[in-house]
Amino acid sequence: MSNTSDSNGPLQSKVPAGAIGDKWDNYKADMKLVNPNNKRKFKVIIVGSGLAGASAAATLAELGYDVEVFTFHDSPRRAHSIAAQGGINAAKNYRGDGDSVHRLFYDTIKGGDFRSREGNVHRLAQVSLNIIDQMVAQGVPFAREYGGLLDTRSFGGSQLQRTFYARGQTGQQLLLGAYQQLARQIGMGTVKLWNRVELVDTVNVDGRCAGIVTRDLVTGEVRSHAAHATVLCTGGYGNAFFLSTNAMNCNVTAAWRAHRKGAYFANPCYTQIHPTCIPQADDTQSKLTLMSESLRNDGRVWVPLNAGDERPAAQIPEAERDYYLERLYPSFGNLAPRDISSRAAKRSVDSGRGVGPLKNGVNLDFADAIHRLGKDVVKERYGNLFEMYERITGEDPYAEPMRIYPASHYTMGGLWVDYELTTTVPGLYAAGEANFSDHGANRLGASALMQGLADGYFVLPYTIGNYLAPMLNKPIPGVDHPEFQIAEQAARQRFQGFLDIGGTRSPDYFHRELGKIIWDYCGMERTEQGLQKALSELPALYDEFKKDLRVTGDGASVNQTLEKAGRVEDFFELGMLMCRDALERNESCGGHFRAEYQDEEGEAVRNDEEFAHVAAWEFTGDPMHAIRHKEELEFETIHLAKRSYK
Ligand SMILES: Cc1cc2nc3c(=O)[nH]c(=O)nc-3n(C[C@H](O)[C@H](O)[C@H](O)COP(=O)(O)OP(=O)(O)OC[C@H]3O[C@@H](n4cnc5c(N)ncnc54)[C@H](O)[C@@H]3O)c2cc1C
Repeated sequence: MSNTSDSNGPLQSKVPAGAIGDKWDNYKADMKLVNPNNKRKFKVIIVGSGLAGASAAATLAELGYDVEVFTFHDSPRRAHSIAAQGGINAAKNYRGDGDSVHRLFYDTIKGGDFRSREGNVHRLAQVSLNIIDQMVAQGVPFAREYGGLLDTRSFGGSQLQRTFYARGQTGQQLLLGAYQQLARQIGMGTVKLWNRVELVDTVNVDGRCAGIVTRDLVTGEVRSHAAHATVLCTGGYGNAFFLSTNAMNCNVTAAWRAHRKGAYFANPCYTQIHPTCIPQADDTQSKLTLMSESLRNDGRVWVPLNAGDERPAAQIPEAERDYYLERLYPSFGNLAPRDISSRAAKRSVDSGRGVGPLKNGVNLDFADAIHRLGKDVVKERYGNLFEMYERITGEDPYAEPMRIYPASHYTMGGLWVDYELTTTVPGLYAAGEANFSDHGANRLGASALMQGLADGYFVLPYTIGNYLAPMLNKPIPGVDHPEFQIAEQAARQRFQGFLDIGGTRSPDYFHRELGKIIWDYCGMERTEQGLQKALSELPALYDEFKKDLRVTGDGASVNQTLEKAGRVEDFFELGMLMCRDALERNESCGGHFRAEYQDEEGEAVRNDEEFAHVAAWEFTGDPMHAIRHKEELEFETIHLAKRSYK
């Protein structure tokens, strides 16, 4: 495997000069502007209508740009953002508990195990203040205290209460808010919405992104769309593991297709395994369900002290319980960050102390909270989550502890972007979970919604203008340009190719098998040996996919099996890159836990000398031979330190 590295090279972060707190202001003061009357001369394509896409599209259209939005859903409201439960962070300090922009910045850098870019993270903390005001102005019904002020609660990795929430439906309420604004623009004709249409390629002309190629999921029509700038807000790739908490149709296709066209893919091995999901019930299951981290505000995590203890929870006396998070991480307790809590749960289950019929979970117990606060208060805070749990498991979490276990949830890796959210292809942007984001090697709870809305409402509307201003009145390639024609033709052939294989196995079969390999060897714990094994098994399975895939139906009508074939193929290539990235990163950091690099207490051991960088991969035609580039991370404000939550 070739592994040519260089230092920064094309990866110029473009973080502005100045003190950390001045950088974003400096950027805005220096950036180029587009006159309001000229904005309509620029077409901007936004792919994705989740929180990042809807907020970006609504804001750019409000500013006057000519915007087109693409989603494979029937309605923008079906974007996966709607599923977000627990809350959204902001450094408002309404509680007066010591929060500030600096603290949110610090917590995020530390939470990400010192593997994120300071300039971006500080900007995120700064604009977090605006997000809450914006969403309240839109009518988002955040929870309020008795006196009418917005309520907040805690999330992992912080000792403050900075998380704003709308019961366990925060994503839903935020997306409805952003969608209303988007719908208003659609109604006014400033946004054209393309639904049930999937991006299947991006197109570059003369070194810049000239637009996209899409496939209509109802008719199969493949066509091109040209624009001055294209923004991918297409979410994360957690479904690479097959079983995950993501919506079933989340996938990596848009980002991967852009990667194949020159956009570097950063830190693909940084994936987040969330500790608070309902454990898998059997082998045929195709989806896992998240129980929000917010539950750990009041729920206490424990397992029996002794392996093999079969007694029901209520019959296990206090002295024979191990509240392992409170024991191991007294300062943060049950709200230790996700990567750390997940590994602690895995260790408990691996030691034979798992609970439930398959012994594959740990307890999340509300008995103390119900005793202290009363059932009504617990219901008020988490009612819908408790209902959901009961519907899925048939168990009443008010009467017995919930059972939880880690599951794939979020991806910190994604398309590499600079401070302006531009990928390595000029004119192509990535926002929200689709970019490699501000979360380093581990995202703190309630920070994804914050980042998606920060990117869409408060960053892109400035940075895109800076890119577009010099393009005024200069022609851009139209869809009749040969590059569009070539890409369209290739897309048609690709989908016809899936139909023509005529094998025996469905895309779902391959997805399940490939997900199992990635989960076993590139999941919560990785080793050199395991990753090598994955890197020999994945290409073999991929070859089988190319020979034995069976796609029924045709390509000219709704065909979800055909859609899935393309997405699974992209997961194959991504899976190889994830394993290569994990293999090359000879350290443990955040969600990337290499068993070889741990201390005597089983905590992650970083190697700052050699790995305090972003790994950004260049596509060469074969993910097994992608080229690894480095963006060195500079820590000017925060000192690199051992991450401790004890
Ligand atoms: C169960 C669950 C609960 C969560 N709870 C929280 C929480 O409480 N707080 C928090 O901060 N974060 C939470 N997260 C994370 C957060 O929800 C996501 O990171 C965030 O919503 C992603 O938003 P997005 O706009 O980037 O992408 P998404 O909401 O995933 O939207 C992606 C959009 O892209 C479109 N798309 C994708 N590919 C294509 C293509 N090829 N062609 C056309 N369209 C395409 C889709 O149709 C969709 O419109 C949670 C995640 C899960 C799984």
